Amino acid sequence: MIEPTLIGRCVDCGRLYSAETGLPYCRECALARDEALKRVSDAVERDNLRTTEGIAERTGLSRNEVRRVLRELPVLARYVDQAEVCTECKRRAPIEGSHLCLQCHIDTLHELRTASDAAYDDAERLEDEPEPAPPPTVAQMLEAKRARMTTARSNPIAAQTVKRYRYL
Ligand SMILES: [Zn+2]
Ligand SMILES: [Zn+2]
Repeated sequence: MIEPTLIGRCVDCGRLYSAETGLPYCRECALARDEALKRVSDAVERDNLRTTEGIAERTGLSRNEVRRVLRELPVLARYVDQAEVCTECKRRAPIEGSHLCLQCHIDTLHELRTASDAAYDDAERLEDEPEPAPPPTVAQMLEAKRARMTTARSNPIAAQTVKRYRYL
C-alpha cells in the first residue's frame, strides 16, 4: 500500500509543497515570513519605530508586508501607529518624560555641541588676535640696521644713498 503524500498549496506563493510541517505555506515562504517577522520586531523593539512607514523604511519591506506581519503579531501591533511618536522624526517612541526619541535627543545635543564649539572657536580666534608689537629692544634695532646695511651692499642704488648720507 502506498502512503498518501501530504501535498498542499502555499497560501503565499500558490506553489504545491509537501505540507508535512502543518503550515499553510511552503518552506521558502515560511522562511521569508520568519525573516520579515524578525526584522519588524527588531524595528519595533530595538529601533523603537512606531509607524508602519518608519518600519517599512527600516526593514526594506513594503508597507503591506509590514501590516501583514503586524496583523499576525498583535503583541507588536499594539506599539505601532496608535502609539505616541517623537515630535521630531515622527517615527520612534519618545523617551519617558519627553516628546523626543533617544536618537533625536542625541542629534539635538550633537547640534548644540557643534554650535557651541563654533562659538567657542570664534571666541578663541578673537583672543588670538595679534597684540600690538612691543617697542623694539636695542638688540633688535641693531639687528634691523645690520639687515638694512646688508641690503644696501647688494643693491648699488641703496649703497649710493648710504654713501651720500655719510657725507652729510
Ligand atoms: Zn510559498
Ligand atoms: Zn525622534
